[in-house]
Amino acid sequence: MGDVELPHPVTGVLFPSPVPPGTGWPDDLTVDETPVATSAVDVVELAADASLDDVTARSSVCRACSRLVEWREDVATAKRHSFADQPYWGRPTPGWGDPAPRVLVIGLAPAANGGNRTGRIFTGDRSGDWLFAAMHRVGLANQPTSQHAGDGLRLAGVRIVATVRCAPPANKPTPAERDACAPWLNREVALVLPTVRAVVALGSFAWNAALAVLGRVGLEIPRPRPKFGHGAEVSLPRGPGDSAGSISSASDVSSPSIVLIGSYHPSQQNTFTGKLTEQMLDDVLTRAATL
Ligand code: SF4
Repeated sequence: MGDVELPHPVTGVLFPSPVPPGTGWPDDLTVDETPVATSAVDVVELAADASLDDVTARSSVCRACSRLVEWREDVATAKRHSFADQPYWGRPTPGWGDPAPRVLVIGLAPAANGGNRTGRIFTGDRSGDWLFAAMHRVGLANQPTSQHAGDGLRLAGVRIVATVRCAPPANKPTPAERDACAPWLNREVALVLPTVRAVVALGSFAWNAALAVLGRVGLEIPRPRPKFGHGAEVSLPRGPGDSAGSISSASDVSSPSIVLIGSYHPSQQNTFTGKLTEQMLDDVLTRAATL
């Protein structure tokens, strides 16, 4: 852990990098007693009975994947030159947004100098700039930018989760890392499922992860599995094994099925080349929000 303490860009509170749990970082729900997973088995156990706040707190101190722990902390210590005056979160990036969303957005993993720096998913990188600007244009966010935790951004009816919660080298988690992280995703999706009407998958990796997690929480997944594409849609009936009912007391399961919608990922590679335009992303989010 770096010895130098630097001020949080919004609050001015001093933090070392990585940020220790329970020290006042905006939206950090951890306390000294928050249990720490150090293996994939621990993740299974700690996710199993977790509330939504527990998932947020417990996953944000997780140390189950040694390669990713080393990478995220190395990045947080070395820092990109342009962010050298800031403390880096350097921990897993939990899901964030509305706790009872109609729209669930699933991405791949936080960026090394984005979510891994700011502690908020999709925050502080170009992909997030695109995503939150689009959310604001279609009425899902109260402001067009997401630069730091604690910046006043609020999402209305939408929640964002990553398939893998730690920034991976070259943006490529291994299958073992994806599987180790899956219990956090499973539990979070199961807990919010009663209110969700649409799931937006950003990119093919997230599409496949979305189909997998939605199947695990009880939705009926067609065979063969539907293929990813921008604007691709598939309606997934809530099956009898839908775990939402057993986890939540919510009686307002709001739809007989959930619609999964694919979108090209708002990566610089896609936005710079015009493969994904603002209108294309707006159209997907508008469709999801109006289901
Ligand atoms: S990727 Fe997921 S399981 Fe692995 S250390 Fe990060 S939070 Fe834990």
